[in-house]
Amino acid sequence: MIKIGPSGIGGIKEAKKNLEYIHKNKLKAAEIAFTYSTYLKKEGAIEIGKLAKKLSIDLSIHGSYFINLNSTDKKKVAMSKKRILDACEIGNYLGAKYIVFHPGFVGKSTREETYENIKKEMIFLQKYVEDKKWDVKLAPETTGKVSVFGSLDETLKLAKESGTAFCIDFAHLKARNNGKIDFKEVIKKLKGYKHIHCHYSGIAYSEKGEKNHIPIEIKEFKTIISELKKQKINCTIICEAPDTYGDAIKMQNENKS
Ligand SMILES: [Zn+2]
Repeated sequence: MIKIGPSGIGGIKEAKKNLEYIHKNKLKAAEIAFTYSTYLKKEGAIEIGKLAKKLSIDLSIHGSYFINLNSTDKKKVAMSKKRILDACEIGNYLGAKYIVFHPGFVGKSTREETYENIKKEMIFLQKYVEDKKWDVKLAPETTGKVSVFGSLDETLKLAKESGTAFCIDFAHLKARNNGKIDFKEVIKKLKGYKHIHCHYSGIAYSEKGEKNHIPIEIKEFKTIISELKKQKINCTIICEAPDTYGDAIKMQNENKS
């Protein structure tokens, strides 16, 4: 089964209207953007979570943009972990399954050092979430720039070795490979997982990778969704195009057909 939804539902008042709109358009998922701050408190999160459940909408969270688990500055690592854990706590009240974030930059480290540093912190975070009994999954995301940790193989290995989930951003994978990507090969690697959280949008890029998200490319999305269906992959795809609601509805039209 494939569930599709937009990213961003706004503050409490807006969120209720948006959830009704999502439901009316037969979308089954929505991602809440805590990218600039964890803007919901416990009570608001519980309220929104209840409504989403009633409307059969699976919620997820996009965590802070200000995360670097590979920083040489220990304070920055500590702040990064706090931002992730704050999102996990509110995510638990929302009933959000996945907490998506970009785990870190390579910086002056080698890719191996970066991997080891991030893995160490991910294991800590995973244990913390389990100890608190928060019902959420940490989901490090495949990133759009080569200078940022998060190729497909790095992400899958990290998730496996630290016991977390992950998020596959198809647009980012395309950008970090300078457009040379075979989505069928990517999707083959996703077989065997119970459920996968994904992002999709169009994307502008250069040799260094991602520049910015642009409207979805229907032809490309058709290839992706038909392969996901062929491989019987159970997943959620969040639309990260600028017109996230409009393009999510277009994606859902492809999902139906
Ligand atoms: Zn994404």
